[in-house]
Order: sequence, then C-alpha cells, then structure tokens
Amino acid sequence: MITIQGKGVSVGVGAGPLYYYHRAVNTISRSEVQDVQAEWERFKEAQNKAMEQLGVLAEKARAEAGDEAALLFETHQMMAEDGDYEDAIRALITEQKQNAEAAVTDAGAQFAEMFASMDDDYMKARAADVKDISNRIVSILLGNVQGGIDSDVPVILAADDLAPSETVQLDKSKILGFITAQGSATSHTAILARTMGIPAIVGVGDSLKPEYEGRSIIVDGGTGAAVIEPDAATTEILLKKREEQIERRRLLETLKGKENVTKDGKSIRIYCNIGSPEDLHAVQSNDGGGIGLFRSEFLYLNCDTYPTEEMQFEAYRKVLSDMGDKEVVIRTLDIGADKQIGYFNLPQEENPAMGMRALRICLTRPEVFHTQLRALYRASAYGKLCIMFPMVTSVWEVREAKRLCKAVTEELRAEGIPFSDDVQIGIMIETPASVLMSDRLAKEVDFFSIGTNDLTQYTLACDRQNNDLGRFYDPHHPAILRAIKMVVDNAHKNNTWVGICGELGADLELTETFLAIGVDELSVTPSAVLPLRNRVREIDTTESAARILAHLEDDCCAE
Ligand code: PEP
Ligand code: MG
Repeated sequence: MITIQGKGVSVGVGAGPLYYYHRAVNTISRSEVQDVQAEWERFKEAQNKAMEQLGVLAEKARAEAGDEAALLFETHQMMAEDGDYEDAIRALITEQKQNAEAAVTDAGAQFAEMFASMDDDYMKARAADVKDISNRIVSILLGNVQGGIDSDVPVILAADDLAPSETVQLDKSKILGFITAQGSATSHTAILARTMGIPAIVGVGDSLKPEYEGRSIIVDGGTGAAVIEPDAATTEILLKKREEQIERRRLLETLKGKENVTKDGKSIRIYCNIGSPEDLHAVQSNDGGGIGLFRSEFLYLNCDTYPTEEMQFEAYRKVLSDMGDKEVVIRTLDIGADKQIGYFNLPQEENPAMGMRALRICLTRPEVFHTQLRALYRASAYGKLCIMFPMVTSVWEVREAKRLCKAVTEELRAEGIPFSDDVQIGIMIETPASVLMSDRLAKEVDFFSIGTNDLTQYTLACDRQNNDLGRFYDPHHPAILRAIKMVVDNAHKNNTWVGICGELGADLELTETFLAIGVDELSVTPSAVLPLRNRVREIDTTESAARILAHLEDDCCAE
C-alpha cells in the first residue's frame, strides 16, 4: 500500500484502476518559410478551426457542467483571437520567417511564461489556458487528433496536468476520479471536476509514478490523499466514506431549492459560516440562504501586518455582491485567546480566553476598528450587510461600538462615499453576562447570534481547547439550552431576531428543540445546510414543542 498526498480540489472518493492520460504529442519541425503571407494564412485557417472547435466545446461544457464551464471555452475563444497574442505570432512568421507551428509554439510559451510569473494565483493558472490554446492550433496545423481514454472499464485518470479542453472532451462515464502531478485549486480542470462532481486531487508531484499504471487506487478529493493498492481496512473505510458522500449528494439534489419548513409549517432560516470569500462556492452549491457568520479575522491572520481598508473592502464587497439580496453577517475582528496575531503585540496573559480579545481589542484600539468599520460600510453599498460584534458582556460596549459605527457613516457621508443606510447591527451572545443582560441588549440591536462554542466554555467553565474535559464540556447541558431559551424570549419581546452560529446549530439532535424555542436562524458550515434542511422538514412541532419547553423548564434540571 502506497499513500501519496496532494491537494484535494473536488470532494468525493473514487476507486478504480489507475490509467495515464495518453496525449497525442505535437512534434513540430522548424523551417524558414519563403512565402510569409501564405504561412500567415495557414495560421489564420487553423485559428478559425480552433475557434469552431472551442464553440462546440463550449456547448458541450454548458450541457454537462453549466454556464460557468462554458464560459471557460468562450474565454479561450477570446484568448485565441487576442490582439497581442496574434501580433506575437505574426511577428514570428513575417519578421523571423518561422513556420506557423513554430511561431504558435513559441508565442504560446512566451505568453504562458508571462502568466506563470504573475503574483496572482488566478492569473498564474491562466498559463495552462494559453498553452492549451496554442496546442490546439498546432494540433490542427499538424493534423493531429486529441488524446483520450482507451479503456473498457472506468478508471482513475492520472496525468502530469490536464488542460481544460482535454478534461471536457473526456468520456465522463469512463472517469471515477482525477489525479494530476501539477495543477492548482483555481485551475479550470479543478473547477470543471468540481462542477461535474468528479473527485480530484492535484499537485501530487513526483510521487505519482508511471509504473503505478494499472494498479488499483482510491482517491479522496476531500483530504487530497490517494492510496495505491490499499489494504482491506483502508478500502473499507474509504468506500464507506464514498457511500456516505453519494447519499449526501443524493440529498443535495433533492433538497436544493426547497424551503426549511416543518411539517406543521414553522420555518427557520439556514445560513452558512464562512472564513473567507473562497468559501462562497460551497455556500452556493449547498444552497445556503445567507451568511450567518463571516469570521473576518481570516484577513488579519493571513497578513504580516494590519490589512488595509482597501484590502478588507474588496473581500467584504465580493462576499456581499456575490450573495446578492441575501443577508450577510460579517463579524468584526475576533482575535485573542486561541487566535493570536504577532503584529498586534498583545501582552502575554495568564488566561487569554478571559483576556483582551475580540470587541475588547477593538474598543481599546479604535484605529484598528475604524479601518474595519470603514471597509464594512463602504462594502454595504453592494449587498445586505449585517455587522456583528463578538464577545459582548455589557450594554456600554455595544453603545460605544455603535457610536463608532455612526462616526464612520458620518465620515463617509461627508466624503461622498456611498453606503447603505439599512445595515443591521447585532451582537454575539457568547458570554453568560450577555445572556443575563439579553433583555437590555435586545433594545440596542437588530439581532443576536448565539455563539454556543464560547457560551458553553464560559457558562460551564470548561476550556473549549481542552480535549481532556470530555463530557464536562457538554453543549447539551440544560444551562446552555435554558440560556438559549432566555435569549430568544428576551429578543422576541423587543423584535430582535436570534440565530445560532456555534457548532451546536448543526446538531440534528437539537433541531427540534431550537424550533420549539423559536430560534429564527441557524448558521452552519455549508456542508451541513442540506442535512439540516432535511431534518427540519421531518419535524412536526405541533405536539413536541410544548413537551420540549416543559422539559426545559423543569425535568431537564435534574439531569
Ligand atoms: C462561538 O463561539 O460559538 C462562535 C461561533 O465563535 P468562534 O467559534 O469563532 O469563537
Ligand atoms: Mg466565539
């Protein structure tokens, strides 16, 4: 058994024989041309044929994988006719008298090198596109046909790298998974694999050896691990995972577009927790109804110094505009405790979880908070923004944070910078103090979101990082459930809506309890949306609600 590790770019488990993609090799010869005009016309003819082929591929991709995949080939058509690319080829043919095959190969290599040297990962990945287009034109000039899979049984397809056009031309019924030595998560092959739901791993490098051809292999596109000739135990584990994923995918298909409504007509909003704009794809493919928690600290954790207003604005704007008219709750900076950032130079603390963290840092470093608030309000013009403050314990903290928000809006107004005047303000309920003060806090804000991870830690006096605490860290503890009930009751008396964004929100054992209590929204990891929707749709609260509430009032306290 040999395990090789790459980057999982399309989730799912695939098992089968390993097969190497056989590519028609374009061997070009170089010659000096006499009639440069005729050679230029040869190129133009091949370019036109390539445009036709790309049109056909765009339609095939649209039928198999949707508009996004088709766009790739339409972009290829644009690149094939790009003025700079054409000028480079023309100069090689007319000035250096190169034959068309050589000119296209050299110009393609030159453009690919230029893209590859760019800093931006997306632009880097475009090197593969320009190589792909040039190869297509050269194949046409040489009269070669594209490669394929010459196997009677479905395979795990291995390659050094696969061009997007190669990927889309393959017979999908023959492919159980992809594994490539090179490639990145933003390469179009990865995008296509994801859209077509084929497990894929890229970037395994030299560990993928030609002598493995024909051996059995299992690829796990979630973890990025591939196992060649797996033993019985590994096979069983991975195949079980595959069954679970197939079941999940089945759920995904049947529940997409449906409402989160119980049998007796109670509805609840199901939103997603994200850590960066890159997670939006998962939100959309899992049919999330909004973003209930965007942990903005990722921006700070990924930088060597304070992220600028512009950098933050771009990230928030992307999330808001991609989500359109759906609500997006962006939590202001929540660092400290387990999330330490060097450049903040936070003092060493005996008990960092109870120290200078989250809103406390923002209120003591208003210049840092000010930058984030400006970026947030500027981005509010692009969607439905809700701003949320973490780690609140007192009413004065919320008032001060709101005052800072107001100052920022006045500043933007004076500068003529657009922002929405419909931004909701909310707080996380994750300390016992905020639970006990929830009647007063509800008068200050539009919404609450209960952070059960921290609320459990602080209420039960159990460090959430300490795995040894086992059953003592019990988010099902009646104190937590009663806290949630108290918060919801206090909020609703003041027309404040309540969500749960801690891990407990996705706990299917408690969905019925949350519905009985009247929680308005659950924000969960994108992959939990559809299982949760499924659970909501199974429930009938007509009888259970009263029983659950009575249990919370009384019986559960004996447990
Ligand atoms: C929580 O505490 O429940 C929460 C959602 O916030 P985090 O896990 O980021 O602390
Ligand atoms: Mg928290």
